[in-house]
Amino acid sequence: RVAIFWFRRDLRLHDNAGLYHALKSGFQVLPLFIFDRAILDELEEKQDRRVEFIANALSDMQQQLKGLNSSLMVKYGFPENIWQELSEDFDIQAVYTNHDYEPYAQTRDKAVANLLKEKGIPFHSFKDQVIFEKEEILSGQNTPYTVFTPYSRKWKEKLNQASETGFYTKAYPTEKYYDSFFKSPALPLPSLAEMGFEAVGEAFPTAGIRRELLEKYHDLRDFPGVPGTSRLSVHLRFGTVSIRELARKGLAHSQTWLNELIWRDFYQQILWNFPHVGEGKAFRPEYDRIGWRKDVADFDAWCAGKTGYPLVDAGMRELNATGFMHNRVRMVTASFLVKHLLIDWRWGEAYFAKKLLDYDLASNNGGWQWAAGSGTDAAPYFRIFNPTTQAQKFDPQRLYLKKWIPELNSLSYPNPMVDHAFARERCLRVYKQGLGKE
Ligand code: FAD
Repeated sequence: RVAIFWFRRDLRLHDNAGLYHALKSGFQVLPLFIFDRAILDELEEKQDRRVEFIANALSDMQQQLKGLNSSLMVKYGFPENIWQELSEDFDIQAVYTNHDYEPYAQTRDKAVANLLKEKGIPFHSFKDQVIFEKEEILSGQNTPYTVFTPYSRKWKEKLNQASETGFYTKAYPTEKYYDSFFKSPALPLPSLAEMGFEAVGEAFPTAGIRRELLEKYHDLRDFPGVPGTSRLSVHLRFGTVSIRELARKGLAHSQTWLNELIWRDFYQQILWNFPHVGEGKAFRPEYDRIGWRKDVADFDAWCAGKTGYPLVDAGMRELNATGFMHNRVRMVTASFLVKHLLIDWRWGEAYFAKKLLDYDLASNNGGWQWAAGSGTDAAPYFRIFNPTTQAQKFDPQRLYLKKWIPELNSLSYPNPMVDHAFARERCLRVYKQGLGKE
């Protein structure tokens, strides 16, 4: 007789909402992770560092569980089949997990919950990866916010109302109940090779954050040439850090940084309340009438970091080499693809999805639709970043440019693939046409 806790984007034992409720349930808790073939089979690269990140996180948890005389159970396959097997192998009393707001995850969880229900097994899911979710933050008219500033105001208000108890940012003290883990000798974890992947073996950003960084964040965060941001995005993506712990740090040391965590909540609730954005549609439908150029050669030059605009090229090269790109540069590269090259934001979104270590449907889609002007909070369509002045402003000493483009001052560096003034005019014309503003 066991309860099963199903890990997904919450790969930690500490301060984990669903795990806390499972451990408190009175049942012995078997911790489970499924390498989902519906996701893995879609990955094109054998050396996908995200799979490697997950494998490392599981192996860390396995060590911790070993110390508690328990073990993680790790399966590889399609979740519904695995749950069918598990329900035959174990006397499952209940299943616990945490909410995942992506459309695929919602469909998957519904199917699993139904399968379990037929067997009389309850499926309990909890809010864990955000501070506020779904319809928790609504406007005066009881509708979801579609503009960030009033949303963030309401977010902070709601948090402050409970500030004495710290209700929304309090840790779930799972460690009090570690005795409830199902006792088992350590079970083997599937290797990357067994699943058809290879390790790269490069270090990932660490899961910690220093107070000094937060104190300087406001001043440094826009300069890609200096280490001014937390690099925690991959940890937030896979839940190797707790959002509640980070929100407490933001509250204590940097409101600007806290604001970035609120953006993350904001885009998650947009995806939940406006699911069409996750289905390849513009948040504002009129933007789906823009006549994008289907120019594969231009797109390839952008992907390879060979546009002749140094900040764009540096960003794409950083992404290709490391799976990370600084936020300021994500904005500039995205804007360049959409506005200078007039290529559909969905192409760029898909490329980032393939490459980003911290890839997250809600934030990535939010960022791309913002750049295209089609999203919530979008900059007006006629505001077009100038990639040259952006570089002068945010990388004045060319630290970032020199790092990623060693040939910057030599003849082998290409000329700009499109003239800025020409691209600007073309963008305005085509956007106006599509939006019916002429
Ligand atoms: P910090 O500056 O230290 O911020 C702390 C955390 O706040 C981040 O780790 C992240 O979780 C969150 N955050 C910061 N900025 C944003 C933002 N604009 N929107 C949502 N959350 C934010 N972020 C992703 O996590 N996954 C993505 O797939 C993603 N795609 C993006 C695509 C585009 C076109 C743009 C413009 C932005 C995208 N972002 C995405 C947001 C942002 O660029 C990254 O979260 C940030 O660069 C991560 O670096 P950091 O951890 O050092 O961030």
